[in-house]
Formats: sequence, C-alpha cells, structure tokens
Amino acid sequence: MIQIPKGCKDVLPSQAYLWQYLEQKARETADMYAFREVRTPVFEHTELFARGVGDTTDIVNKEMYTFLDKGGRSVTLRPEGTAGVARAFIEHGLAGGVLPFKAYYLISAFRYERPQAGRLREFHQFGCELYGAAGASADAEVISLADAFLKRLGLKKVELQLNSIGCKHCRARYHQALREYFAPHLSELCEDCRVRYEKNPMRMLDCKVEGCKTVAANAPHMLDYLCEDCRAHFEEVKRLLSAAGVAFTVNPSIVRGLDYYSRTVFEFVSDAAGAQGTVLAGGRYDTLLEQMDSKPVPAVGFAAGMERLLLVMEAEGCLPIAPQGVACYLAGMDASSREKAFLLAQQLRAAGIPCETDLMERSVKAQFKYADKTGARFVAVLGERELEEGAAQVKDLRNSSSERVNFGELADYIKGRS
Ligand code: ATP
Ligand code: MG
Repeated sequence: MIQIPKGCKDVLPSQAYLWQYLEQKARETADMYAFREVRTPVFEHTELFARGVGDTTDIVNKEMYTFLDKGGRSVTLRPEGTAGVARAFIEHGLAGGVLPFKAYYLISAFRYERPQAGRLREFHQFGCELYGAAGASADAEVISLADAFLKRLGLKKVELQLNSIGCKHCRARYHQALREYFAPHLSELCEDCRVRYEKNPMRMLDCKVEGCKTVAANAPHMLDYLCEDCRAHFEEVKRLLSAAGVAFTVNPSIVRGLDYYSRTVFEFVSDAAGAQGTVLAGGRYDTLLEQMDSKPVPAVGFAAGMERLLLVMEAEGCLPIAPQGVACYLAGMDASSREKAFLLAQQLRAAGIPCETDLMERSVKAQFKYADKTGARFVAVLGERELEEGAAQVKDLRNSSSERVNFGELADYIKGRS
C-alpha cells in the first residue's frame, strides 16, 4: 500500500472545518487592516530562495525541496511565503503603484525537516506583508494585526516577544563583539556554528543544538549595540504597541532564522503545545528587495504556523465546535417516493436549504440512522400515502416532535425552524 509521504498530513472531511475556521479568522483579521490576498506559485526558481531567504540559513542549506524539472531548470517548492511575494512585487512593478502595498497569503510551505509535533515537511502558513513604509508605525500595525488575529482565535496565553537586530551599520560592530565572545568557545560549538561564526555570527544565537545554546546564553545583546536611528525606531515601536494595548516582553535573544531581517523582530510564543512554541514570527526586512536586485523598498511582515496554532488552540480549549449536518434529510420508502425525495431535495437546495437524500438504497430505518449519525436537523419521510396527500411527515430530530407539511410549504417550514 502506498502511504502518505513522511511529514505530511491529510485533512479529512471530518476535520476540515477546523482549517476553514482558522483561514476564515485570518481573512477576517486581514480585512480589518485592509490587507488583500496574494497568490504566488507553489514552486519558484531555486535562485529566488537562495537569494531571498539567504544562503546562510538552515532553510536554504538543509531544508529545501529542490529538483530539476524536465527542462533541466532547478526549481524549489516554496519553504516560506515572503520571497515569492517579493518577487511578484518587483516583477509587476508594484513599487510604482499604490503604497503601502499590503498583502496576505494562506499557503502550504515545504521544508525537509525531522517531523515531530508542530514540525512537518508540508505545513501551512498565514502570512502578511507590508511594503513601502519605513516608519515604526508600520511595524506596530503589522504586529497589532498578528495580535488581533490570535485574539480573534480566542488565544489568551500566547506571549509576544520583541527584539531589534539593528541595521547593517550597527550590526557590523555587533558581529565583531559576537566573534570576540565566541572565539574561545569554538571547539564546543557544532560544525554549523563554526561556519556561521565566519559567515553570519548572529545565526549562532538561533542554533538548536544544546551545547551551542549553553554557550550562546551569555553572548552580548544586539540591543546594546544599536545605532541612534535603530534605537529610536525600536523605542517608537514599543511606545506604539503599549499605547495600543498590545502586551509584549523584550527578548534580546530573538534573532530569527532568516537572513533578511533588520531592526524589529518578533515571535508570538506559547508553552501550551510542547516544544514547538513559536506560533507566529516576523519582523522588518528593509534590505530584502535590494537583495533581489530591486530598488530598496522597506518591508515588514510575519508568518504564522497553522498546524502549531491548531495545537495551541486545542490546548487552550479554543477549537470551534463541529458543524451541524444538513437542515433536512429526505427519506423515501419505495421507488416513487425515493424519486420524489430526490426531486424535493433539488427544490430545497434551490431555496438555499442544505439537504440530502438516500443514495445507498437503504431501508427507512437505516436512513433515519444515517440522518441521526450525520447530525441532520429534520427528516422528511415520504411514502405512498405522503405522495397521495402531497405532504411529508417531518420529524425534528432535536425533540422528536413530528408534523405533516405540504411539499409546497416544506422549504418555508424548515427555514423558519433552523
Ligand atoms: P523554527 O525555529 O521552529 O524552525 P522557523 O524560524 O524556521 O521556526 P519561520 O521560517 O519563521 O520559522 O516560519 C514561521 C512560522 O511557521 C513558525 O513560527 C512556525 O509556526 C511555522 N513553521 C516553520 N517551520 C515549520 C514546520 N516545519 N512545520 C510546521 N510549522 C512550521
Ligand atoms: Mg525552522
């Protein structure tokens, strides 16, 4: 038997309402902030991610699903959403259009990782992107959108952690300080971190290997190296968030796993669902578009991991209840009443009433059982006598009461009661 690839998950019809709920809450929140949906391809030229995500990141070095297509081009299943949106923004010349550009996406993303709870190979993200605004109000807007989304889901125990990782000017001094700090510990670090030491020392703070984490715990903080402008920007972000009632704590060890971040970085973290605690993460990336050969355009955004959100929602008791079955099940007894049930169902649907009828040639008793199991509200029974009278016997499964209802009045009867 062929099985699902490792690290992937099916969403069966009985569970799909959870995803629809989550997506609906995302769309509702984005609407409130006037972010519009953007859809980009599932795969892109590999070069886009190498440049956009950064070639010192775990994503590019270890986690990408890359293959040659039949034309011999190297393509990659998107490991995240930002690079594709940035490409589209540049390719369609949107910097010359209405700014700020505000877009959101609901996507699946692909990373070759070791599967565990909250860590999959195909996973899903809700992400937002805001391009064109350099000021702290844009950071505060995007963070408050993220906060509003989590609140709309009913989550209460997710904590916002905030940091600034400065700009390329102040970061140069910080990199030097980091190298000085890590130099005597190089032999205790993992192989990756020794490469990071040379290429991008800040990445060492994001290492998940225990030994490296221990060393990194006492490393100097970027916050102590911020230049005047970056400091003022960070202060303003914090001030606006406080004024808006968005609670946060400053966590100097957040650096994020992607190369394109500058200044503000943030994570919404929960301890409700085990080890994979970061449910939503983002920041400012003012150099990303430049990195992709566009003129510089400041940008800020985030991505939320949907699987992790569902785990945390379950832990916090915020999952929605399963939807009801159809408003009306039409049960037929013999050939002609079954046909009438089939036709009445069409009429009820035309009147906007979800309904179904037997497709399995079952007995009336078995049809009732089915209607009950699937959570139907009413069952309209049709037999020889009902056809003669032009009326169905309608049973309300909630209270077992039963009434005769003319075929012509059936739609109104059900509408009035469900
Ligand atoms: P982590 O440190 O947990 O690996 P990351 O820094 O790689 O996360 P991002 O690239 O910032 O994650 O992605 C944003 C969000 O997407 C994460 O905060 C997380 O909720 C989710 N996410 C990332 N990778 C996975 C994965 N493999 N499976 C499920 N969700 C994921
Ligand atoms: Mg990761």
